[in-house]
Amino acid sequence: MEYYLDNSATTRVCPEAAQACVKAMEETYGNPSSLHRMGYRAEQLVRQASEQLGAALSCAPEDIIYTSGATEANNLALFGVMKAYARQGKTLITTAIEHPSISETAEELARRGFRVKRLPPLPDGTYSPRQFAEALDEDTVLVSCMLVNNETGLELPVEEIARTIKRLKPEVLIHTDGVQAFLRQPIKLRSSGIDLMSISGHKVRAPKGIGALYVHRGIRLLPRLYGGGQQKGIRSGTEPVPLIAALGAAAAAQKDSVRQERSRFSALKERLAAACREIAGVTMSPVGEGYAPHIATLSLRGIRSEVLLHFLEQYGIYVSSGSACSRGKQSPVLEALGVDRQTADETIRVSFGAETTEEAVDELAVRLEEALHTLAKVR
Ligand code: PMP
Repeated sequence: MEYYLDNSATTRVCPEAAQACVKAMEETYGNPSSLHRMGYRAEQLVRQASEQLGAALSCAPEDIIYTSGATEANNLALFGVMKAYARQGKTLITTAIEHPSISETAEELARRGFRVKRLPPLPDGTYSPRQFAEALDEDTVLVSCMLVNNETGLELPVEEIARTIKRLKPEVLIHTDGVQAFLRQPIKLRSSGIDLMSISGHKVRAPKGIGALYVHRGIRLLPRLYGGGQQKGIRSGTEPVPLIAALGAAAAAQKDSVRQERSRFSALKERLAAACREIAGVTMSPVGEGYAPHIATLSLRGIRSEVLLHFLEQYGIYVSSGSACSRGKQSPVLEALGVDRQTADETIRVSFGAETTEEAVDELAVRLEEALHTLAKVR
């Protein structure tokens, strides 16, 4: 048996997305910019995918810009907005726990003369709208705050943050990295105060190589890519129609079961927590409000996460050591959250997906206990 518990790193493509992708490659293979019927059909397919995303996110289909993934979407949002609004101000406010595709982009903006304020978490590891309100100043153009942290599962109150900021300074734009939240928690962009949101296909059962940036109409973005002027000139390049069709199909297939899946994940996480409470030497991240039900972190006293990862692998259980994106490096996120180095080195991330069963959770718990008996070194 194989138990894939690394769904926050990537997911298995769902049948609906795979079929939509193949169909587009084999049948609807025109270039959406071509003026003939084959081009028109491809354009319609892109339009349909945008409608499917619009329905899943409660936003206008015209406000979706396709990218190669969330890394590109995050780069486009930050560079695009900061450069387009440079005359109004030069300050970006973000958090200390963003994915590198935000934190490294912010770093580069700082090198290029922009100002970046990185807000540390509160002592309990969370964020409040008040912190953002206090950080605002006359120079602030953009606030970028993720919805769900990929390493810890922390859910940030982005809608409340957006509302607070808009009340104080309606001209400040709000971007959110919604990668780990899209199709995992209900999101209604309309009425949310969120102006831009990045999503990634491969985290939601669509293929790798596709993502999107929601850009509320009227917002200006300086392009990162210049060329044929596709996608309103914001993101030139022939649209990858098969990947776009797959992303739309994945959204359509899952959008009505978000709440149901969420409670299923909550039950799985609770099951894992209950099992871990019985095993001496395991500490699990919090369960319940404020933490995404599909992500859990586990620290096993005396076992380095990479050692544990390979131990579990022998039994067909796949997890990640911290975040796959911070492989080999001390995680700046855990550091910002005040996790000591040793605990950070002993932390694995488990993330559930559509195919995760109770059996997988039970099997994990059994193997964790076994690992503690055979591998743990006395600290
Ligand atoms: N943001 C978050 C929160 C993520 O978890 C990831 C993927 N690890 C990304 C951005 C980057 O997404 P992509 O792989 O589509 O570039």
